Amino acid sequence: MTTYLMTGCAGFIGSNMIRYMLRRHSDIRIVNLDALTYAGSLENLETVGEDPRHTFVRGNICDRALVSRLLEEYDPDFVVNFAAESHVDRSIADPTVFLETNVNGTFNLLQCCKEFWYDKKTGTCRKDRRFLQISTDEVYGSLCRDGLFSECSPLDPHSPYSASKAAADHFVQAYHDTFGLNTIITRCSNNYGAMQSPEKLIPLIIRNAVAHRPLPIYGDGLQIRDWIYVEDHCRAIDMVLSCGKNGEVYNIGGRCERTNLSVVKLILAQLSEKLNDPEINDSLIEHMTDRPGHDRRYGIDPSKIMAELGWRPETPFDAGLGKTIDWYLENRSWSERAADRADRFRCGEEAGLCARG
Ligand code: NAD
Repeated sequence: MTTYLMTGCAGFIGSNMIRYMLRRHSDIRIVNLDALTYAGSLENLETVGEDPRHTFVRGNICDRALVSRLLEEYDPDFVVNFAAESHVDRSIADPTVFLETNVNGTFNLLQCCKEFWYDKKTGTCRKDRRFLQISTDEVYGSLCRDGLFSECSPLDPHSPYSASKAAADHFVQAYHDTFGLNTIITRCSNNYGAMQSPEKLIPLIIRNAVAHRPLPIYGDGLQIRDWIYVEDHCRAIDMVLSCGKNGEVYNIGGRCERTNLSVVKLILAQLSEKLNDPEINDSLIEHMTDRPGHDRRYGIDPSKIMAELGWRPETPFDAGLGKTIDWYLENRSWSERAADRADRFRCGEEAGLCARG
């Protein structure tokens, strides 16, 4: 049986990953460590139900005693770190918790793994155990019109979020190079799909448009992002875990660059048709002052993972967006509860909980 310690899997990508893994593999056990900040909820794991292969542990990745205990108790083959503060706007409003979770939390996981996986006989870390850091294309910064990010592109982050993710990536690489930890870093482009926080672009636009509320778009809306359906990302992570090479970085992207404005217009067209509602149209779009430090274009070159591991994105954007819109229409109360959690956190009610986990 293969055992995974996965962190942050009550959130968007992590909860999709748990469902993907349980569907795909029978002989596995997943321990899911999550602090349940505003971005995480056990509701996201309801469909996993009482599956005995999944164990939920509420706790913070910065908690050294807890992480060490989980390593001792479950002896995982893989540690996969999804846990992060992930919203760029929040990192601009208050970067502190981004430093705490994304940098110190990753550092704590690495340090605990290094100690637990140290092999006295060889004087280095066990190679049959692996640490996977889930990173982002945002660490590469912004592209001009041409070119794509490769795994060799320099890290050039511009927001406190991407700076904290880049710092974590450097620590992961340092633990590989210095202590022989078996590590891999994946850097993925913008995900979309079910159970994404209603603060993020696609769920936000769906939620507001259905209610005929204004649709806030930063600046001219011509910022370009490379979109990937979340299940394609999960499949890539699964392949990297089992077949990726020690010490490597793998870019993951959907080969699907779109301007934010064109994504919004596509959502409006699909929503209007699905709901037969002509009031859902482009007139709801409202341009607002651009986000400070806003990267203009991200474009990922995923040819390494495609050539080495045979992975490729399978979900065309129109189809993935259609499935995503259907999910949000069928789960409107989920969005309301998630938005309510996010609002309460913004008001500070749960700030203490999030800071402490
Ligand atoms: P999310 O915000 O939806 O989920 C984050 C999860 O981490 C939540 O369940 C939260 O409770 C948990 N968490 C936060 N702080 C924690 C802590 N200190 N200890 C334990 N758990 C904690 O994020 P997401 O969109 O699912 O992203 C998951 C990972 O993927 C992140 O590392 C993010 O940087 C990366 N990523 C996201 C995207 C994207 O488009 N969403 C793209 C590329 C990479």
